[in-house]
Amino acid sequence: MDNLSGEPTPYSKSAEILPATMRQMRTTSSPAQHTLHHAISAVGIGLHTGRSINLTMEPAPAGHGIVFQRTDLPDAAPLPARYDYVVETRLNTVLGDKNHPENRVATVEHLMAALCGCGIDNARILVDGPETPVFDGSAADFVFLLDCAGRKTQDLPRRVIQVMEPVRVDYKNAWVELLPNDGPTPHLSMSIDFPASAIGTQSFALDLTPTTFRNDLARNRTFAMRQEIEALHQAGLALGGSLLNAIVVDNDHVLNPTGLRCPDEFIRHKIMDAVGDLYMAGAVLNARFRGYRSGHALNNQLLHALFAQSSAWQDTTNLQSASAAA
Ligand SMILES: [Zn+2]
Repeated sequence: MDNLSGEPTPYSKSAEILPATMRQMRTTSSPAQHTLHHAISAVGIGLHTGRSINLTMEPAPAGHGIVFQRTDLPDAAPLPARYDYVVETRLNTVLGDKNHPENRVATVEHLMAALCGCGIDNARILVDGPETPVFDGSAADFVFLLDCAGRKTQDLPRRVIQVMEPVRVDYKNAWVELLPNDGPTPHLSMSIDFPASAIGTQSFALDLTPTTFRNDLARNRTFAMRQEIEALHQAGLALGGSLLNAIVVDNDHVLNPTGLRCPDEFIRHKIMDAVGDLYMAGAVLNARFRGYRSGHALNNQLLHALFAQSSAWQDTTNLQSASAAA
């Protein structure tokens, strides 16, 4: 099994003593794609339906991408985890088949974030209901499952999309933008500003690596305002929500008896959401992402804006492969 923790591998630890020509090859070659070593299954409650959902994650061939599949609907078409298959962004990100509205999978963003953070390019995600299990409201259990499944190297280079020009989407006093990034690692930064004083103004930024994803993002839970929950229930949403799978805020205090996992858990969760939403580029997106009071809707609109502007991005996979072969 490959190293999943992001810690230096024995190979990379010894890079300093490699001849200069070999170091050059290491730095110019594109990383390989990865899938799961074994299939793995789990059962959990869906946040919005309150139903028990069976989840199975299976290995998939190189070039396949992340694809969701409803197993409870006969002849349901596979749903690629791509921005152009997103059919709803209220409260969560929903993938769906526009021609068959019943074929949809909600709350995919935390699993997508875990797949991105753990470096999984190809997988089939089977669910027997209309959403993924919420588990504890963070990505931690998905990371645990992916660790248990193991990670297998494949024989194609990772697809990398480099942002070449700034792209920005505004809505009222919220905005998101993608900027070109000089370094090899995506950078994300965001600020939020909530009237509830238990949240208030929070900012966070990080370079996204397997290590920073695990240490700084994966364990942070989703959250809701106490006064919003009744309206959500009346709309048939958040029926499975509880203090076991979400932080509930009542103005100046947190209702969960165990409190927060860290003082800025809210903004860290929002950045984790953005990691999952941006992975629906269908590739690693190398960019500087910045957001202010943003959420799933703006994250998705940002990808639409990026891919509508052909000069704003470049698929550098083949360039890196050619460089490695030279
Ligand atoms: Zn979330």
